[in-house]
Amino acid sequence: MKIAVIGAGAAGLAALRHCVSGTYGDQVVCYEKTDQIGGTWVYREQTGFDRYGLPIHTSMYKSLRANLPKEVMGYPDFLIPEGPVSYPTRTQILDFLNIYCDHFKLRPYIRLLHHVELVEPVAGNRKWSVKVKDFQNDAVAIESFDAVMVCNGHYFEPMIPNIPGQNIFTGKQIHSHDYRVPDFFNGKKVVVMGAGPSGMDLALEISKNANRVILSHHLTETIDTVFPENVVQKGDVVELTEREVVFADGTKEQVDVVFYCTGYKYSFPFLAESCGVRVDSNMVTHLWKHLVCIENPTLALIGLPFYVCAFSMFDLQVRFVLRHWHGERQFPAQADMLRSEAEEAARRAERGLQKRHFHMMGPEQEHYYSDLANVAGITPLPPVLSKLHNESSMRFLKDLVHFREDRYKIIDDYNFVQLSR
Ligand code: FAD
Repeated sequence: MKIAVIGAGAAGLAALRHCVSGTYGDQVVCYEKTDQIGGTWVYREQTGFDRYGLPIHTSMYKSLRANLPKEVMGYPDFLIPEGPVSYPTRTQILDFLNIYCDHFKLRPYIRLLHHVELVEPVAGNRKWSVKVKDFQNDAVAIESFDAVMVCNGHYFEPMIPNIPGQNIFTGKQIHSHDYRVPDFFNGKKVVVMGAGPSGMDLALEISKNANRVILSHHLTETIDTVFPENVVQKGDVVELTEREVVFADGTKEQVDVVFYCTGYKYSFPFLAESCGVRVDSNMVTHLWKHLVCIENPTLALIGLPFYVCAFSMFDLQVRFVLRHWHGERQFPAQADMLRSEAEEAARRAERGLQKRHFHMMGPEQEHYYSDLANVAGITPLPPVLSKLHNESSMRFLKDLVHFREDRYKIIDDYNFVQLSR
């Protein structure tokens, strides 16, 4: 098969690795719009737009250390090497991705500075036309493929809630996508909106510079972790005035900065409507197993689920897709795939989850991984990954300030130990 891979982040590299591994003898081209591999792990001081007029992709900030131990952050058969700490820095992860890329000799297949502008099914849906802008040669080309793996990430298009008064607020408003270093917050009063991993991490980071940090979230209970004294928790922000934020309980606070840590939108600006993929309230649909486009199954979207062991899941998803594309497993009938998606949506809705939580895994990840492995008949991920992921997420919530001092060691497919700090 001739396969296009869009993006050379951790997902695109996993896709490329299995496409070129020799198992199937596929031809593959990986298009990467920036000048480097590594995706969101590439730190760039610049925010806004790059020299080619494209929005900056990465959301990486300078001080970032992973919020998961390296023991769960490698690929299934290519682990992050042993070291004295479990929680790697962003540079260590980027170095690791470069080592992975070189180890599997992937660079010859990667076309840097190639921006995919349009993907559409052609020839009665039997082929894909991929239109690419080559920034180096300032040229546009259209190539034809049998299949496409979309690996463009989902932490680049900021989600900013609509709040009355946003247009009259005279302070600064910034999204975490554009955050790099804390200096900007020196001596300021800041409301951080959102208590996901970024909101929690960044509230802590800027508390060293800011005068006062208000962590606003809609969790029904106060987050039970020890924050520095200048960090307080409040409910949702419901309105902004010229200088104040108004909270759901009616209280008001004067602030200098509204810092949106409100997450990201799934976005596939290059997929033509005829591809059959839509984003509905941040649920990507219609997909089989969060992965395969039901209307055109030779299109796969790698990496959508979140709160997962990301690199291992990418590897598993790619192997799943290739087994099907190469006929070792058959896709179910379209109606059955649609039913499976609808049933999962209904199960999640029954549990009170909104559409935007459709791809959230967390405690469900083990079930998702084993389902993929069983259905495709491929080597499963060791269950210890999900176990350690869930343990680490719990420690993150309980002890935000110190959890990165924890050290873990995986001892077999099911067990890990926590080493002394
Ligand atoms: P990306 O890394 O975003 O890569 C996508 C690539 O596609 C980019 O290189 C982009 O330039 C390219 N691209 C996009 N559109 C096009 C196009 N049209 N044409 C050509 N190329 C294109 N995960 C963890 O496991 N542990 C962590 O501690 C962790 N911390 C994180 C911290 C932050 C601040 C963020 C934002 C994410 C974090 N993640 C973490 C999640 C992280 O995104 C994943 O681990 C993983 O790196 C995502 O890989 P990806 O390849 O799917 O996407």
